[in-house]
Amino acid sequence: RFVHWTLYTLFDRENVESVLMQYHHGWSQCLSTQVGCKMGCSFCATGMGGIVRNLLASEMMAQIETAQADHHVRVSSIVLMGMGEPLDNFDNVIRFLQMLGEPGGVQIGMRHVSLSTCGLVDKIYKLMEYKLQLTLSVSLHAPNDEIRSRMMPVNKKWPVDTLLMACRDYARHTGRRISFEYAMVSGVNDTEACAKELVHKLKGILCHVNLIPLNSVPEKNQYRSSQETIHKFKAVMEKSGVNVTVRRTLGADINASCGQLRRQNQIS
Ligand code: SF4
Repeated sequence: RFVHWTLYTLFDRENVESVLMQYHHGWSQCLSTQVGCKMGCSFCATGMGGIVRNLLASEMMAQIETAQADHHVRVSSIVLMGMGEPLDNFDNVIRFLQMLGEPGGVQIGMRHVSLSTCGLVDKIYKLMEYKLQLTLSVSLHAPNDEIRSRMMPVNKKWPVDTLLMACRDYARHTGRRISFEYAMVSGVNDTEACAKELVHKLKGILCHVNLIPLNSVPEKNQYRSSQETIHKFKAVMEKSGVNVTVRRTLGADINASCGQLRRQNQIS
């Protein structure tokens, strides 16, 4: 299996990252949608520098075209999960998604696209109206407002119940299953009580839960939960019939997930 991470320098000398990964079904690429991010999640290195600017649709497309040319591969699926909050750059991201299927373009179908959001509820409803067949991936990371507001400032504007209501509506309206991302942070959101509360909150939502062993951010004192803790958390969810997996940490292995590549480049 191959993993290639790339740091792109843009026309204004800003940098964004992208990660190309080989799976049994083909090549998948994780793309950035903004230079930096203003959402300020506590466990994320990208948010530490704030937002610099939105990427243009053409700059997102260039990440795919460059990867294909450099590595002589065809990218068959993409995840908008690199630097930035895609729904905070709504118009450019929609334009980019439309370009994916244009004649002479990269020809990536919507069913091979995942879009990740930290939970901008108004934009989730706006996206819903496009009825795209992509996978909406929601960074939930906590079962209640007390924990989530500490981890993700966006929760103060869009609390857990409001977000989950939007997800329920989105899944019903589009017929697409929501993918909930849950980064396991040691001592923060990884208790058995959290798992039980999460099960309760997700009842009735067409969804899948992805548990992610955190890519530790030592400067923020945020560390990955132990294997045993993750296993117990997963078991509670499975027992209650929730569809749950533990994500492989390809990005973490090369220290390139969620903006850490750019941070290290700036520091070095
Ligand atoms: S986790 Fe995502 S939304 Fe949160 S600060 Fe990092 S890049 Fe932004």
